[in-house]
Amino acid sequence: MAADPPRPAPLPTLVGRSPRGGLRPGFPPGPAPAEVERLAGYLADESRLRGNAELVAFPESEAEVAALLREAGRRGAGVTVSAGRTGVVGGAVPLGGWVLSVERLDRVHGFTWHQQAGEFRLRVGAGLPLDRLQRAIRAGRFPFAEPPDGPTRALLEEFRPQSTRWAFPPDPTETTARLGGMVASNASGARTFAFGPTRAHVRGLTVVLADGTVLDLPRGTFMGWAGHGWTLRRPDGTTAHLPAPVYGLPPTKHAAGYFTSPGGSGPVDPVDLFIGSEGTLGVITEVEIALRPLDGQEAEVVALFPGVGEACRYVDLMRAHREEPGFAVEALEYMDAGSLGLLQGAVLAGEVSNRLPGGATVAVFTGLRLKKGVADPLEAVGKLVAEAGGNADDSLAGVGGVDIGRLKRIRHALPETINALVARVRETHPGLTKLATDMAVPDRHLAEVMAVYDADLRAAGLPHYIFGHIGNNHLHVNIVPRDPDDYGRGRDLYAGFARRVVAMGGSVSAEHGIGKLKKYLMPAQFGPEALDGMRRLRRALDPDLRLGRGTLFDL
Ligand SMILES: Cc1cc2nc3c(=O)[nH]c(=O)nc-3n(C[C@H](O)[C@H](O)[C@H](O)COP(=O)(O)OP(=O)(O)OC[C@H]3O[C@@H](n4cnc5c(N)ncnc54)[C@H](O)[C@@H]3O)c2cc1C
Repeated sequence: MAADPPRPAPLPTLVGRSPRGGLRPGFPPGPAPAEVERLAGYLADESRLRGNAELVAFPESEAEVAALLREAGRRGAGVTVSAGRTGVVGGAVPLGGWVLSVERLDRVHGFTWHQQAGEFRLRVGAGLPLDRLQRAIRAGRFPFAEPPDGPTRALLEEFRPQSTRWAFPPDPTETTARLGGMVASNASGARTFAFGPTRAHVRGLTVVLADGTVLDLPRGTFMGWAGHGWTLRRPDGTTAHLPAPVYGLPPTKHAAGYFTSPGGSGPVDPVDLFIGSEGTLGVITEVEIALRPLDGQEAEVVALFPGVGEACRYVDLMRAHREEPGFAVEALEYMDAGSLGLLQGAVLAGEVSNRLPGGATVAVFTGLRLKKGVADPLEAVGKLVAEAGGNADDSLAGVGGVDIGRLKRIRHALPETINALVARVRETHPGLTKLATDMAVPDRHLAEVMAVYDADLRAAGLPHYIFGHIGNNHLHVNIVPRDPDDYGRGRDLYAGFARRVVAMGGSVSAEHGIGKLKKYLMPAQFGPEALDGMRRLRRALDPDLRLGRGTLFDL
């Protein structure tokens, strides 16, 4: 008989506290349909799914978040948490009930240095937008909620002269995303190849639960065990058991369902339960993030290849050469022929003076950090492009801020250009949406999955664009349906891709999450027991299932 896994005995206790901060007179507000009309933007996100709500509220403190949740509980209203609404799976779209926008929780609450980790840490409100955070780090000036104390002021003096060396690496392309939304969807992006997803940069969270209980969760402090979990003690002395679910997670980027111990049995940090929970387990009000030193100049090479096979060979080579004397590889981003064609027509001519040469069919945008002391680091990259079968002479290189900015804008323009195509189709067929995969496979299956996508899409004859994070074997296959028939066939194809990807040991959602639009993929990834485990955890934290109704699970 297998031995029981080691477990902490008794279960670790998560001690909830009462909320802090002020409560404005008249808060929480009552339902006001006219207001909702004026605030229509809060009923949709970038998925273009449109919902409805009785009230949109903008709490300004932890106490207001808790008061709103308690009031919603008294009235039996569901609560949808909303941040930047740049999500593409409808997680922030309310299906009735109340919207809780975290956008006014946008202040910085602390700045510290951690000697052991060798990193500066910032404690930020969940509503802080990523672009504002990035600008503040570069300038070394943060929007503090309270004037910083003496030691913090001294640390800031030390930080400012070196501020441009430090960064918060997660970059989900759309920089109007807010920190709470990024954490709740474990966002990643191009630089995840080198630095991991948002989860890797979170050192602690403050979360308000559905009943108003507040949890302060520094990473590594309240480790539980999969299958056992924690005891939750509320401020009124009552307790509840929080079960930590047991199931394996794919060894790839992954953002579907709740996190647990990756191997199925092992330690679980409660911080990780809330990261990626898509607004269904609690409202994240503060996030402690780590900054990371990034030395050397940023550069980007657009490597061009005659076909996908050569591009996959290049990715393998770049993985093997990710740390070289002259450069470190930070990102490997793919665009297929259709995507390049779309950009050349719509965007590229206005953005870069060099047009992509006509002979290339696919491109890998290669993000690099150039190291000092090597005469021509890009020469080594050119050799690897040639070794993989690409054309080094035709490839483009950008070094430094202006060039990099242009290349980033091009990559950002692609999903937006595709969304515009879909919007045009929706004028005739309003029921249709873009069908975009978000699946990742282990390294050894990259060429195989690319071949599957290519063969099936060709056979189906569906208009499509493939682009994304090839360094993580994580491509977005975007099918743009022309009519309902295309849409139906595209959905079938998508379900088939999901089955194949899971059979390869991959993830059905590597970064966008499940939200309201991809719930049908959950059974492909998780068996019934795993899904039950998730439901038990959710019910333990939110017995009336008021948070994020319709997200992850059906209402
Ligand atoms: C053009 C474009 C490109 C994109 N590229 C990428 C990419 O490369 N990588 C990537 O990962 N994503 C990408 N995205 C998706 C999106 O930007 C990310 O998912 C982003 O992290 C969402 O942040 P947000 O603030 O907009 O969250 P929202 O959309 O407002 O919310 C997302 C989810 O989090 C929940 N939530 C929000 N705040 C909180 C909180 N404080 N507490 C609890 N739950 C909360 C919401 O209920 C919802 O379920 C892209 C989007 C666009 C439009």
